[in-house]
Amino acid sequence: MFLGCIADDLTGATDLSLILSREGLRTVQTTGVPDEQLDLANIDAIVVALKSRTIPVDQAVSQSLAVADWLLDHGAQRLFFKYCSTFDSTDRGNIGPVAEALLAKVGNDFTIACPAFPANGRSIYMGNLFVNGILLAESPMRNHPLTPMRDSDLRRVLRRQTDCDVGHVAYVDVDSGADAIRAAFALQNAANKHIVIVDALNDAHLRSIGKAAVNLKLVTGGSGVAIGLPAAYVHAGLIERLNPPPQKLSAPNGRAIVLAGSCSVATRGQVQAALAAGFPSFRIDPMEIATGDITVGSVLQWLDAQPKTRIPLIYSSDDPENVELVQNRLGREAAGHSVENLLAGVARSLPERGFSRLLVAGGETSGAIVEALGIRVLSIGPEIDPGVPWTLSRSGPKIALALKSGNFGTPDFFLKAWDMLT
Ligand code: ADP
Repeated sequence: MFLGCIADDLTGATDLSLILSREGLRTVQTTGVPDEQLDLANIDAIVVALKSRTIPVDQAVSQSLAVADWLLDHGAQRLFFKYCSTFDSTDRGNIGPVAEALLAKVGNDFTIACPAFPANGRSIYMGNLFVNGILLAESPMRNHPLTPMRDSDLRRVLRRQTDCDVGHVAYVDVDSGADAIRAAFALQNAANKHIVIVDALNDAHLRSIGKAAVNLKLVTGGSGVAIGLPAAYVHAGLIERLNPPPQKLSAPNGRAIVLAGSCSVATRGQVQAALAAGFPSFRIDPMEIATGDITVGSVLQWLDAQPKTRIPLIYSSDDPENVELVQNRLGREAAGHSVENLLAGVARSLPERGFSRLLVAGGETSGAIVEALGIRVLSIGPEIDPGVPWTLSRSGPKIALALKSGNFGTPDFFLKAWDMLT
């Protein structure tokens, strides 16, 4: 294991894992500090998912340091601190304090902060972050419920979060390539800047930044800036070779199933496509959970009556009007939790029923289901659609899992994903 990554949330961890895998690193993702028995053979990178984006600063720092200790103890030569490409944080942190603490941990006094992800519409110019062409502070992030971003100048944002002197490497150097960026790093470091915001407008910039950052013990950023690192590490002789990303996943033999707890537009379309294709389906209405008409037991009873050769679809996905109705009657949180708990309860019983191929729609839903299954370690397999890989559990029951953020994937996602499994 060469590269140890600390991600401040679960879907961000998957996003980073997928990029590292696509760029040639054999990558494993874990939730929280990995177990001692995690097999590190044939692994180039580990991405550890925390849930530290909005927790109190001291906890974010101590959890991140605990992961860093584990990674460094287990051979990591480089650390990567992954946060959101919209730099989600408040004036108290957590990006600055965690970066500062990790920098001290690796014994360096210089790192970069680069949340740019041009392919996803995040670019940095003159230290200012743009979201789909709009300044961060004028984008919808301005009104984020937990981390409202009201300053687009990341130098100022970071200065408010840390005692470190924050510098900047501008577009003109970044565009000139890795040597110019490296020279700019040296100048900034000599001027006592310990964290520098780096401009980036396209993937070529990210690749140049990767080359220039090859000797930094700590890199911080969004998953975009990881694009350039794997090839740079190989070029510098730090990693032996890149491995082509997997095209197929060798999944355990067994039955397949779809659990959809997302009400996002993309998922609703995917549910409709699966219904049209004749998937045996069970619709979960939160009101019926509340009345006790739908229970884990009743869903399992239905499941057990389905032909073993078919792919069952269990879904709660509904249109916004119905969701609002239900939320008004049950409360937003209670409605959400009741569906999550029900699907998690069903998922818990899947391995003993011979299911070993599982597709889940919904971010929160995925978190609840993975936890219920007792799965903490995943290897990253082929990319089904942008941002969604097949994964294989490496702890808990042996299952091939695709965890789909609600709005990801093409309409035929539930139909086509299985073709990548062998
Ligand atoms: P997404 O990735 O689309 O945001 P999530 O799983 O993260 O999906 O969030 C969807 C939330 O909505 C979950 O808490 C889920 O339990 C809840 N939910 C699912 N179906 C319904 C429904 N029919 N009515 C109300 N809430 C629902």
